[in-house]
Amino acid sequence: MRIREIQVGEISLPLVHPFKTALRTVDHVNDVVVRVIGENGCAGYGEAPPTAVITGETKGSVACAVRDFIAPAIAGLDLMELDAVMDRLQRSMVHNTSAKAAVDMALLDLWGKTLNAPLWRLLGGAKSEFETDLTISVNSAEEMVRDSVEAVGRGFHILKVKVGKDGRGDVERLAAVREAVGPDVVLRVDANQGWSPREAVRIIAALEDAGVNAELIEQPVPAADFDGMKYVTAHVNTPILADESVFSPADAVRVLQEHAADLINIKLMKTGGIWPALKLCAIAETFGARCMIGCMLESQISVAAAAHLAAAKGVIALADLDGPSLCACEPFPGGPKFEESRIVMTETPGIGVQVPDLWG
Ligand code: MG
Repeated sequence: MRIREIQVGEISLPLVHPFKTALRTVDHVNDVVVRVIGENGCAGYGEAPPTAVITGETKGSVACAVRDFIAPAIAGLDLMELDAVMDRLQRSMVHNTSAKAAVDMALLDLWGKTLNAPLWRLLGGAKSEFETDLTISVNSAEEMVRDSVEAVGRGFHILKVKVGKDGRGDVERLAAVREAVGPDVVLRVDANQGWSPREAVRIIAALEDAGVNAELIEQPVPAADFDGMKYVTAHVNTPILADESVFSPADAVRVLQEHAADLINIKLMKTGGIWPALKLCAIAETFGARCMIGCMLESQISVAAAAHLAAAKGVIALADLDGPSLCACEPFPGGPKFEESRIVMTETPGIGVQVPDLWG
């Protein structure tokens, strides 16, 4: 079953609230969408958000990478020789991981449709449903309390609270959120590289003393500060999750071997898609570490792909797949069901999301 054509489109969806982290503020999902058509007439879909502050990619760079480098490398190949196709995709150029991810998931969507089986079952079938957290943007303590209480009212039991924009107010923000939501809600804290190593240890110790009881602290220090991350992990009790520090399987080996973090956050836009992410899963299993599956600011197309990976693999024990819940519009039909905090897998072949015609 040969790959006939690779097309590029785009999608723009408004958000419920502006998305604010220590790195940026955004009010729309504005992503590149990829369609891969097979000679059997089936189509597979993928998506890439231009997250320049994390992967270095823009909308123009993603579209150009897919059109000018990736498509010529894989067009005409036999998709039933999947491992060879994925190898050609990853070797088509260096970096550009989001562009590669969009094509990787479109190929796997088409592969599953061609085999008439849902992707999560083909890749392991570990669980048919799981729970995701919801992100609370970094704001004043009052706004964060309001957003957290609203999220709990929507049925979310796990909140991922963004901090790191002004270290001095972070303990106060998180203590206020904990007091407002009560002891039973799980709080994950993401500093998005916003603290220095010493500041991180001081803040995390203060959170532990204040009884904030965070489940984990994500990426406390800058991505490139490996020694700083290791220092933080060694000096606090709360588990540390590596996000921006881990893109490749080699990054994961180094972080886990040297115990620079306790957990790994897998995002398809960092790994270059599901196929390379499977290697990260195998590495985490080897070191006995658990993984979180995360997403950038993405719509349902690529978050559905991440949901298939999470449902396939037992080592992915935590999910941060709230992209569809942050969008202020009706979801596309087909594929996994995003029921607020619950993500329920279906038996639709491939990834299964029905994408509107963006190709005119
Ligand atoms: Mg993060």
